[in-house]
Amino acid sequence: MKELLYSGLAIFGARFFNKKSPVIISWSLTDKCDRHCLYCNRWKSPQAELKTEEVFSVLNQLSDMKTRVIIFTGGEPFVRPDLKEIINYAHNKGIYTMLHTNAGLLSGRAGDICNLNKIIFCILGPREVNDSLRGDGAYDNVLSGIETARRYGVKVGLLTVLCRQNLDCLEYVLNLCENFHVRAVFQPLVRHLLDEDNAHLTLPPEDRYQKAINKLILLKKKGNRYINNSLASLKHLLLWPAPVRVKCPGGFVYCRIDAKGDVSYCDRTTGPDGANVLKNGLNHSFSRLTPHFCDSCWCAMRVELERCMEFDLSCLRNSLETNFF
Ligand code: SF4
Ligand code: SF4
Repeated sequence: MKELLYSGLAIFGARFFNKKSPVIISWSLTDKCDRHCLYCNRWKSPQAELKTEEVFSVLNQLSDMKTRVIIFTGGEPFVRPDLKEIINYAHNKGIYTMLHTNAGLLSGRAGDICNLNKIIFCILGPREVNDSLRGDGAYDNVLSGIETARRYGVKVGLLTVLCRQNLDCLEYVLNLCENFHVRAVFQPLVRHLLDEDNAHLTLPPEDRYQKAINKLILLKKKGNRYINNSLASLKHLLLWPAPVRVKCPGGFVYCRIDAKGDVSYCDRTTGPDGANVLKNGLNHSFSRLTPHFCDSCWCAMRVELERCMEFDLSCLRNSLETNFF
């Protein structure tokens, strides 16, 4: 909780003094993945990856730049044999670490997460719905992953991506949350992860999507404790996919590092030439990202960040009360 309060204050401070600072980083350690979800094409063309020593060097730079939170993503981070070393290195630097995983490789390497602060599993609904999108065994992997994380004292969060197939599964996910005492973040499926050929298979129809988000808004207003999104961010997500202008948190209090070390505003965007941690270091790369407005931000985490940057105290309170980060 202390770390989260400090990151919240760091975000407010950066905004108040108009001073760029990479408080929160999302870092894709690899594009490789042991699953082939219907709505994701990242695993199809994996880029080169940073070597372990290069990752450590970037962690040193992040520590020097006072980064508070790193969200490790992929691909699937567990395909890296050095994941445990990376988590431990970040932990020893005093950085709050979060990890997105499909949990498929977790059971054989449970000890890898002992120094992790929070683990996020993706669940899309009941087993048959979930596995039709994410492959056989994906649902059971998550349930056993939750138990494993509990054994190691690691906080657990769920992520539910709203697709054509699971818009009627909100109550199922929230009941699951209640049973396991965890919270879920909801967000729409984003187009940039899709193959054009099969986008129509998974993209949610707008009217049904809006009905689903309205339901979440109603439940949140009634005090549902298992919805991790703030009310303000749900109201933003309700407008998907219409353009909504926001001040981008990327390049201001946040950035993304991809598998080969390129630095950008987020996974939807490509950074400026030369913004690469190996070629020019993190400080220079981050400084190349310029403040700007954008009209299609639908990642729940970045929407929360954007709201916090706009001094929305209810979002900060929601982040602290629900352990958003
Ligand atoms: S959504 Fe995640 S688990 Fe599924 S293929 Fe993409 S990276 Fe792998
Ligand atoms: S989607 Fe747009 S506003 Fe959101 S992080 Fe990316 S560039 Fe910034």
